[in-house]
Amino acid sequence: MPAYDDANIFARILRGEIPCTKVYEDEVCLAFMDIMPQVEGHVLVIAKSPSRTLLDADPAALSALMPRVQRIGRAAVAALKADGLTLMQFSEATAGQTVFHLHFHLLPRREGVPMRPHEGPTAKPEVLGALAERIRAELP
Ligand code: AMP
Repeated sequence: MPAYDDANIFARILRGEIPCTKVYEDEVCLAFMDIMPQVEGHVLVIAKSPSRTLLDADPAALSALMPRVQRIGRAAVAALKADGLTLMQFSEATAGQTVFHLHFHLLPRREGVPMRPHEGPTAKPEVLGALAERIRAELP
């Protein structure tokens, strides 16, 4: 497997070099709105500890990350009044990964609303900002 390369776009977001629509941040993770949402309320939770995929992640970092994924997933489901949650994680390009910094996709799902393709139109910043605020309001 290739080594982690900190020139990827999520590492740049973590360093504050490019903006994101933030939902939550602590010492373990950063959560922000996906710029090409596959459903309304599509959130990415990225690890602060540098790893390329799930496969090379430090197990201790993963065990700190997963409760955050659950907490933010619960908030997204509550904010969107969703019926469920799709959790996605792609490891390596063959599996669909495009940004090589460990992240989880949280997709609040509503009955009868299909998921859009992985690469679609970019959402308006004001729309993402309003969704992030609604999700933040549901975080304990
Ligand atoms: P993956 O295929 O799992 O690596 O997914 C990467 C995700 O990052 C895609 O869903 C993109 O829409 C999303 N993405 C890429 N660049 C940005 C960005 N600058 N801000 C927010 N989301 C992004």
